[in-house]
Amino acid sequence: MVQPYKHEPFTDFTVEKEREGYLQGLKTVENYLGQDYDLLIGGERISTEDKIVSVNPSNKEEVIGRVSKANRDLAEKAMQSAVEAFKTWKKVKPETRADVLFKAAAIIRRRKHEFSALLTKEAGKPWKEADADTAEAIDFLEFYARQMLQIKDGVPVNSRPNEFNRYGYIPLGVGVIISPWNFPLAIMAGTTVAAIVTGNTVLLKPASTTPIVAAKFVEVMEEAGLPAGVLNFVPGSGAEVGDYLVDHKDTRFISFTGSRDVGLRIFERASKLNEGQIWLKRVIAEMGGKDTIVVDSDADLELAAQSIVAGAFGFSGQKCSACSRAVIVEDVYDQVLNRVVELTNELTLANPEEQSTFMGPVIDQSAFDKIMSYVEIGKQEGRLMTGGEGDSSKGFFIKPTVFADLKPNDRLMQEEIFGPVVGFTKAKNFTEAIEIANNTEYGLTGAVITRNRAHIEQAREDFHVGNLYFNRSCTGAIVGYQPFGGFNMSGTDSKAGGPDYLLLHMQAKTTSEMF
Ligand code: GLU
Repeated sequence: MVQPYKHEPFTDFTVEKEREGYLQGLKTVENYLGQDYDLLIGGERISTEDKIVSVNPSNKEEVIGRVSKANRDLAEKAMQSAVEAFKTWKKVKPETRADVLFKAAAIIRRRKHEFSALLTKEAGKPWKEADADTAEAIDFLEFYARQMLQIKDGVPVNSRPNEFNRYGYIPLGVGVIISPWNFPLAIMAGTTVAAIVTGNTVLLKPASTTPIVAAKFVEVMEEAGLPAGVLNFVPGSGAEVGDYLVDHKDTRFISFTGSRDVGLRIFERASKLNEGQIWLKRVIAEMGGKDTIVVDSDADLELAAQSIVAGAFGFSGQKCSACSRAVIVEDVYDQVLNRVVELTNELTLANPEEQSTFMGPVIDQSAFDKIMSYVEIGKQEGRLMTGGEGDSSKGFFIKPTVFADLKPNDRLMQEEIFGPVVGFTKAKNFTEAIEIANNTEYGLTGAVITRNRAHIEQAREDFHVGNLYFNRSCTGAIVGYQPFGGFNMSGTDSKAGGPDYLLLHMQAKTTSEMF
């Protein structure tokens, strides 16, 4: 009997044993820094000359590892092995497929601190953020395995006398998983295993800045007993391997998490019918966000300020759920703004390997340059209250930055920055605050801080985001508790960690027999 799902608790690092566990994890990771990792195609490890070099964003000199880079020929080989493996994997019992996920969860749980330490090294995540990423990966494994057990027999439908109708779900085929660097373990693993547990075979193309944690995860899935060819590991460039696989006639679906522009490109390419293709490809896309915290005039202002700071600067704002807009009802604007500036000035920006670090670096030079260019735009559009400086000499560090007095249509309030920058704007009243909050092309997360019950109900109806939170921050959805995904340009509202996520990887089949 499978135990009910419970999310993986976060580690309490004030407990000495846990602190030591993490430090030990760092040592383990340090022992394998700089190694080479192969592609995995049909169970075969393939090494190429051309490598993706993964570096530590806190210290550019430190190489985390080198991963072989797939080209078109290898992508084709991987596609063929996924097509072949699908013929048998789709017939494997759902219980057996779920067991692979349960075992993978157990392996990662045993190596939890090692995975978190690797996230610190490869993605620049401070302890708490790294721990949450690892916990979420475990959650996805545990949750989707159970979901598969729930949906495996389909849904009852009516039958008339002498007739027996059944309605069930079958897998789609070969899926291409293109995963992001900001949750390089959780989202990479979650999108991969959702496809696998439902009976599909996959080609995993991880983000090029964080391929090592993906390579380690692929090893875990092998150890957990996944047959060869079900999960093929094909790191490579988007232009070469990504486009090729998205366009491929044998690709049945694409599961993508990343930027709006890449998501749109995939959506468009996937809609074209290619020679020999006999289906409409499905696209599951989780794209950007421009997420707002609204603060009402009667709100708990300390809670409001804490929520804005946590949402804006956790993992340097590099979450599509991050708070990048604070819309404050005018009577409390100055108070909230000043308190946010105070709290921001207390944050530590440093090497995330130190336990005391709140914020580490941003992911790479191009992210650094893009964010710093938005800081310049912010100086034109608004009033710089704190931060605004960056240093990319050793790693890619940008101070947490607050801009005040922006107008709702300013670029800083409209475009996704994906960095530690939050913009403040004033609203005359609560209704106007919600209107401003909705005034973006995205619709991922949002939060409302208020004590007014009627305003909670108003926001519940009118604030148009996929994940709406009351009296808390807008980041940190938990698998199985707050299914995660957004409206409009935030993607296909495919709710990761939710009760219908797996169905997106399946198709329904009706059978009807006359007796
Ligand atoms: N699920 C995460 C959260 O709720 C964000 C995921 C993302 O940034 O892609 O904060």
